[in-house]
Amino acid sequence: MVKFVKQTAVGREKGWGQLVKLLEDRIRQDGQVLGADVLKVDSFLNHQIDPDLMAALGAEFHARFKDVDITKILTVESSGIAPALAAGMAFHKPVVFARKHKSLTLKDHLYTAEVYSFTKKTANTIAISTKFLGPNDRVLIIDDFLANGQAVEGLIDIIGQAQAHLEGVGVVIEKSFQKGRALLDQRHVHVEALARIAAFENGQVVFEQD
Ligand code: 5GP
Repeated sequence: MVKFVKQTAVGREKGWGQLVKLLEDRIRQDGQVLGADVLKVDSFLNHQIDPDLMAALGAEFHARFKDVDITKILTVESSGIAPALAAGMAFHKPVVFARKHKSLTLKDHLYTAEVYSFTKKTANTIAISTKFLGPNDRVLIIDDFLANGQAVEGLIDIIGQAQAHLEGVGVVIEKSFQKGRALLDQRHVHVEALARIAAFENGQVVFEQD
């Protein structure tokens, strides 16, 4: 992990492509392709978490969105929290995560949206307290994966309810062969994906070529 940070510091001087390569190498080394469209990365991203990698990813998001004047970072629990917090530490801005509830009867003082979970195949209501988002907020959404875009669409819905402004979306891993990226491009949303997966072929990850 120490080695990673040293390499990343070199990457900072040489350009950020270095970090993308390190992330891709880590995905190749430790990621596991499950079926046709799921990548398991629970050894470093969303179960066990590599803090040095997170710090480097947070710095990368900061570099990519440095010209955007944001007030808040938004994500969805639980797997979005680590990269969102890392970005929050780089931006020095608060991080708000939407909570997931199977059924939500009490909706007072909450913004809510329905989100269909790609991995769990169930619908969840996600909720954010009205205390933490309002018309003066300029929001950066951060998540671990972009697949069909449901989680991000739910957050965009909530940003609309709060009359806040969406400034961009940063994801650690985009599966470009699923429809989420195209949906966001159609809406002219500024999307930054650190690793972009073109396909899974014979259990191997194929990345988009720059
Ligand atoms: P979407 O809403 O874009 O369809 O899916 C995004 C959410 O589903 C992410 O927040 C992530 O937690 C989960 N997800 C989507 N695809 C994958 C995947 O291939 N692997 C893992 N581990 N999670 C995924």
